[in-house]
Amino acid sequence: MDFDDTPEEASWRSTVRSIIADNREALGRRGAGRGYDDPAARDRQALLYDNGLVGVTWSKEAGGQGGTPMQQAIVDQELSRAEVPGLVNLIGIGMCGPTVIAHGSESQKERYLKRLLRADDLWCQLFSEPGSGSDLAALRTKAVRTDDGTWRISGQKVWTTLAHVSDYGILLTRTDPDVAKHRGLTMFVVDMKAPGVSVRSLRQMSGGSDFNEVFFDDVEISDDERLGEVGNGWGVALTTLMSERMSLGGGGTDIGVGVGAVADHVAARIADLPDDRAAVTRQQFGRAYAESLAIRYTGYRQLSAISRGEMPGPEASAGKLAGTRVARDLADLSVRLLDSDAVFARDSGGDSTWQDSQASLPGLAIAGGTNEVLRNVIGERVLGLPAEPRADKNVPFRETIAVATGGSESAAKEATA
Ligand SMILES: Cc1cc2nc3c(=O)[nH]c(=O)nc-3n(C[C@H](O)[C@H](O)[C@H](O)COP(=O)(O)OP(=O)(O)OC[C@H]3O[C@@H](n4cnc5c(N)ncnc54)[C@H](O)[C@@H]3O)c2cc1C
Repeated sequence: MDFDDTPEEASWRSTVRSIIADNREALGRRGAGRGYDDPAARDRQALLYDNGLVGVTWSKEAGGQGGTPMQQAIVDQELSRAEVPGLVNLIGIGMCGPTVIAHGSESQKERYLKRLLRADDLWCQLFSEPGSGSDLAALRTKAVRTDDGTWRISGQKVWTTLAHVSDYGILLTRTDPDVAKHRGLTMFVVDMKAPGVSVRSLRQMSGGSDFNEVFFDDVEISDDERLGEVGNGWGVALTTLMSERMSLGGGGTDIGVGVGAVADHVAARIADLPDDRAAVTRQQFGRAYAESLAIRYTGYRQLSAISRGEMPGPEASAGKLAGTRVARDLADLSVRLLDSDAVFARDSGGDSTWQDSQASLPGLAIAGGTNEVLRNVIGERVLGLPAEPRADKNVPFRETIAVATGGSESAAKEATA
């Protein structure tokens, strides 16, 4: 394998470096900004976008640069090397945008995509519900078409990351309870500030409140905001879920914790360790480092396949599964190296980067498909093992609800009325 830049890649790398150097002060340094709710982060992203460094692989018609995945990888490497703080609106860029590109009307693309890349608008993904996460197609939020053609939405979503700061969301609803669960779904773009949408934040064990419950109380959505055909919401959602897995470990990027930063942390602390602990630490870091490189290069292989016009396959599930495990190993190792500082850093106003990573990474092993569900995908679609029994296949959704609620006719009626 040859990992050197081709002449074209080297030229693109030098362009990217000059853009960063020319805007050095305005771009700031990692650690300086607060993230998605910081107006400076949005300004920074607009600056990067206006210089052609956001949405590199998106087509020009979609507001992107029409570049290659390799060009995107070079941008990521150079921004990281220059310690430029990360992009915001990652759910928008990684999941909602690709869904609008694949299934949206021309007018939706025109209205939304460029603003999404510049972080003028933030987006969220409204899929999971209290009774349907892994079994997403069992969702109950319903959309009913009125006589004038608009839609009325009622129901509840949960675990919606960044709903509290989002301007728009992609919303998966049930439009037909009389067909099998996967077939009666329809996707919409919803304005998060519309009357009837209310957001209640949830507290995480990391201390943050990044995700939410979202309630829809007779919210009106115009038919122009439908994404894809009525009843084809599952097909639209698959685009989102595939993109989600790619952006969580299938695309060759580190998940949750950068291996380079861990290497620096280990290097800074290892000299203070007794010999036996230093040896074990070297061994643990070496194993996690080798695994993270294997995951990264497997991700690059997938990016190359995508750049040849092939769809990402179930390998993205393996990338996410392995990536979240290695990220947890690296975060655990980093926290252990802090010894007693690990306990006191946050309370004493110190740097709690490693503790925060350690506390938030278990969530990544759930978001975008739990480890068990990903193993099912790999078992069935990569290894060719027998599929799980699916008792509700081809059964009208209305009847599966009755079964799930222990045959309670009233609960079934309430959910599907
Ligand atoms: C950090 C974080 C961010 C999130 N952000 C969003 C978001 O922005 N938008 C959104 O819509 N959702 C979001 N989610 C929700 C996420 O998609 C769901 O939590 C996830 O799909 C699991 O669903 P559940 O929580 O209902 O668990 P369940 O599906 O109830 O699963 C419970 C347990 O059963 C296991 N299990 C379930 N089915 C099977 C099976 N068939 N075989 C074997 N084991 C199984 C699971 O692995 C799990 O251990 C987020 C979650 C987290 C943790």
